[in-house]
Amino acid sequence: MTTSAKAILIDGKVISAELRARVGVEVARLKAEHGLTPGLAVILVGNDPASEVYVRNKGIATREAGMNSYEYKLPAETSEADLLAKVRELNADPAVHGFLVQFPVPDHISQQAVIDMIDPAKDADGLHPLNAGRLASGLPAMVPATPEGCLIMAKKAAGDLSGRHAVVIGRSNLVGKPVAQLLLRENCTVTIAHSRSRDLPAIAREADILVAAVGRPNMVKRDWVKPGAVVIDVGINRVPAPEKGEGKTRLVGDVDFADVSEVAGAITPVPGGVGLMTVACLLRNTVIAACRSKGIDLPADF
Ligand code: NDP
Repeated sequence: MTTSAKAILIDGKVISAELRARVGVEVARLKAEHGLTPGLAVILVGNDPASEVYVRNKGIATREAGMNSYEYKLPAETSEADLLAKVRELNADPAVHGFLVQFPVPDHISQQAVIDMIDPAKDADGLHPLNAGRLASGLPAMVPATPEGCLIMAKKAAGDLSGRHAVVIGRSNLVGKPVAQLLLRENCTVTIAHSRSRDLPAIAREADILVAAVGRPNMVKRDWVKPGAVVIDVGINRVPAPEKGEGKTRLVGDVDFADVSEVAGAITPVPGGVGLMTVACLLRNTVIAACRSKGIDLPADF
């Protein structure tokens, strides 16, 4: 971690590289001792440019970790029935230990129907209701990758989270709710805020750990943040950047980074923050799934 204006920068590049290296070591051990190569598959429907970039990056990271990567690109007009058939095929494929369908899928396909069809044991994104329920019940589960990444970063910055007040802004099944469950598991006192919450700045100011998962560029300002708080910015928002030239854009988070850096104790940047952790945690999930499928124990600190 390096220092920014005042806050410590929680550097996703460094922390995700550590985790990916750790995954690589474990993959090498599984190959050598068990003849097992974990495999991660991704299904992409259509040709959304941002999704294509995510899928490509996941493939590169998977191979770099020594794992098998499988990519299935289906045309935008693929029917829901055909996509569900592909999901069933991967459920049955012994070389695939974890997989995900890149969301969003085209409007004619039900996202929930796809999630419900994924074998919970291979649910690399941890979105199946069984995994969400197991996480909420404090049972071993496939944990969604982005929330897990948030937790790792919060612990890096704050150490033991027990007794801290965590405020999560956002309550999606993908990010907000699982982040809140993970923080609760760490014995935080957790508040979940959302679009109907009253006086959001006052709620946010209570936080020792503030997680913003909203999708509103630069929403969180310095007067929302308790001095010294750890701020985890999940948001990825593309905004116009006329300073880079006509029609250019750049990525910003849900937190006004420059402003909040003046008061926070530690903060994640966008880009270079949580987004990098998502891929690393996905790889880790796949290794966990591969080991569970074969009854292989992982080191306790994995
Ligand atoms: P959703 O749109 O599913 O959820 C957004 C949440 O924010 C909702 O719970 C919504 O409340 C709440 N919200 C919206 N507007 C406000 C507001 N003005 N005040 C308070 N709460 C508000 O988004 P996701 O959870 O999927 O994603 C959130 C952000 O994280 C996005 O920018 C997304 O791009 C990014 N993201 C980043 C990832 C990464 O790898 N770093 C991975 C996944 C997402 P309500 O429920 O009341 O509508």
